[in-house]
Amino acid sequence: MPIADKMVGIVKSASMIRKMFEEGIRMREQFGADNVFDFSLGNPDVPPPPVVKETLLGLINDAATSHGYMPNAGYPWVRQAVADYLNTQCGVGMTADLVVMSVGAAGALNDALKALVNPGEEILVPAPYFVGYNQYAFICGANLKTVSTKPDFHLDLGAIDDAISKDTRVMLINSPNNPTGVVYNKQELDELGQLLEKKSQVFGKRIYLISDEPYRKIAYDVNVPWMFGVYDHTIVLTSYSKELSLAGERVGYLAVHPGAEDAAMIASAAAVANTMMFVNAPALFQQVVGKLQGVCVDIDIYRKRRDMICEGLAAAGYEFNVPDGAFYLFPKTPIENDVEFAGLLKEENILAVPGSGFGGPGHIRLSYAVREQSITNAMPGFKRAMEKAQK
Ligand code: PLP
Repeated sequence: MPIADKMVGIVKSASMIRKMFEEGIRMREQFGADNVFDFSLGNPDVPPPPVVKETLLGLINDAATSHGYMPNAGYPWVRQAVADYLNTQCGVGMTADLVVMSVGAAGALNDALKALVNPGEEILVPAPYFVGYNQYAFICGANLKTVSTKPDFHLDLGAIDDAISKDTRVMLINSPNNPTGVVYNKQELDELGQLLEKKSQVFGKRIYLISDEPYRKIAYDVNVPWMFGVYDHTIVLTSYSKELSLAGERVGYLAVHPGAEDAAMIASAAAVANTMMFVNAPALFQQVVGKLQGVCVDIDIYRKRRDMICEGLAAAGYEFNVPDGAFYLFPKTPIENDVEFAGLLKEENILAVPGSGFGGPGHIRLSYAVREQSITNAMPGFKRAMEKAQK
């Protein structure tokens, strides 16, 4: 094998989405962009709010704008802006020294996991889950252990209770969720917090909670509760990839709850982990987001698409939970084999990712970060694929 043995499994788990991506390019060349309906990518196409460009231009034209190295955790004023914003949202008493600016949420996840998890320890994650977690667990030498969720994808506290072991170091949750769109409610999060406290006592070892929240601001008519108010030993992390449509600019942060056991040490370790991979979050866009705390893309655009895709798929006979947030839908496949069903969709020039890539077999993941026209024009194909599967 020309690649390292330990890379083989990782490459396999990443390949399903990569294959879709490459297939999308090939199909667009063959059939024309308007005739290919690519629901496979979570790449925000809603433009950033105009104030992003204005802020960027202001910084570019300002001779005082910094482009040099900085403290590895990020510019102190940007971290203070993030802390101030968090305090307006959840009054947690956040301070700038507990905030580490990162290279997107992916960078923050890598930093937090490196800071906390020893090789061989477990990261527990409810399935289905974001595929990147396999890679982040791999990098810190940890085992990613999945735990099932309820049929509506909410947390199954009984299953989590059974799954936590002496090796569990981190419980990793993501709400609003990729791929299901579920938003966890306050009651299940309260119960989760109590369970993590109980299990930390039972095993004599602190279990930390990491709350991965890049879709927090993309929620439709539901409140996204803060885990900070629930369990002190929490690290919240996020990015501006989705809320400001800046996915390619790679900026985000992690924030450690001031009441977490060894909070300061964790934040320092995360900043050092930052230097090990990325040195620091990109300078220019750190300064942009530092000035734009609380700003968000127009989520009514996503809400409208969500309603359109839900209405169309329901009429075509698909079963799914209506997503509360993010821009994904996770319908059941009418046949057990989700890869085969994705193949039937592909015959209709529709690209969807089989749920088994997310630890959720028997489903497909559809991203509605696509134009309304694509949703409308894809519907006859969705219907035909359903009819073929039912024959
Ligand atoms: N976590 C989840 C649940 C995601 O869906 C993504 C990206 O799609 C990430 C983390 C990584 O986010 P970023 O691109 O901001 O690093």
